[in-house]
Amino acid sequence: MIPLNEAIDTVLAAVRPLGAEHVELLDALGRTAATEVVSPEPVPSFDNSAMDGFAVAAADLSDGTAGPAGEGLVIVDELPAGRVATRPLARGQAVRIMTGAPLPAGADTVVQVEHTREHDGRVVVERAPEPGSNVRLAGEDVRPGDVVLPAGALVGPAEVGLLASIGVQRLQVARRPRVAILATGSELVPVGEPLKPGQIHNSNSMTAYGQTLAAGAEPVLLGIARDDPDETRRLIARALDEDVTITSGGVSVGDFDFVKAVEDELGVERLFWRVATKPGKPVVFGRRGDHLVFGAPGNPVASMVSFELYVRPALLALQGRTDLWRPWVFAAAAEPVERTRERVEVRRCRLERDADGGWLFTTTGPQGSGILRSMALAHGLALVPSDYDGGPAGERFVVLLLEGSRPERPPFPD
Ligand code: AMP
Ligand code: MG
Repeated sequence: MIPLNEAIDTVLAAVRPLGAEHVELLDALGRTAATEVVSPEPVPSFDNSAMDGFAVAAADLSDGTAGPAGEGLVIVDELPAGRVATRPLARGQAVRIMTGAPLPAGADTVVQVEHTREHDGRVVVERAPEPGSNVRLAGEDVRPGDVVLPAGALVGPAEVGLLASIGVQRLQVARRPRVAILATGSELVPVGEPLKPGQIHNSNSMTAYGQTLAAGAEPVLLGIARDDPDETRRLIARALDEDVTITSGGVSVGDFDFVKAVEDELGVERLFWRVATKPGKPVVFGRRGDHLVFGAPGNPVASMVSFELYVRPALLALQGRTDLWRPWVFAAAAEPVERTRERVEVRRCRLERDADGGWLFTTTGPQGSGILRSMALAHGLALVPSDYDGGPAGERFVVLLLEGSRPERPPFPD
């Protein structure tokens, strides 16, 4: 049995990032940038108005020409967004301008329409802004040569927007890891088939499928191998064609646990078996060449927790992601926590805010490794150290945050 951190280090050390492929901009969503994207141009590419109002020369504001004491400025043109002025602004003139329209030459300031009054083709400025106000300068968002997307970044909505703003149509993203998912166990039946006595439905392949998709990888369902060495060998051999294999079940010390022996026969180099966690202790990990082989225990929570601890970071690292980890918080236990026995306990928990705005976690009911509802109800995974002596409510632990929205509305300020 090895410590959790050693297991995680071993997995990450075995990862060889996958190659890249070219995809259309929108197909890059949820994928990882394989090369950095540098902007060849400034954004915005021209000085433009940040307000609906009048483009003026600051000099006309400072010398009083534009103000109520003067006679106002002659309105010489109108510029909606998308139109370019045909002649420069002369002294004593103003151009009616809309948000986003390019500033005419000779203008350096925009007076918002609410601060003006018009009469007889002239505009009078009732409240003069500082020189240069309400103008968005070329390059104020992106300068030529700026990295708008670093290699290893997840491409999300803001990233595709930024790429669109510099006109990127296609980009290099990491290939999605292909993940073979194989359930083992003679008691397993696919969803959709009735259960005979002693049988259960294969739920681990379903959870692994979901977790694989959520990690940006491509699941390949290989079904169920009965606890039979030949069938297990045939299906694991097939799984080794993909980038990653995840099996569930068959890694303990039972008489019908064939996964490890079959992997040995197939030339999989074992890097660890058994990690000091609860649940998830009998997890096995190895590789054949660059192919990673994870063997999760069969109990449904152990299977999901093993994915979370080892497979998810590996799938992100295969894609070259630099952010491998779940966001986490320190949270206080709402109930006393019992002592652990040489294993890190992974408690599925719900999170609430306490009165001071800190986090409080409550365990999601019975924590048996077969109780999948403990996972379905969880906001996070609280990690209790392997040498914890037991303690009262209020002690704080690291809680990894799982995906999700929250029922309480945040205190939005007005
Ligand atoms: P094993 O690790 O093969 O000893 O299995 C441990 C427990 O997990 C047993 O109760 C199995 O029936 C259950 N189990 C194994 N595989 C699956 C699966 N794919 N879906 C749901 N439960 C499973
Ligand atoms: Mg089994």
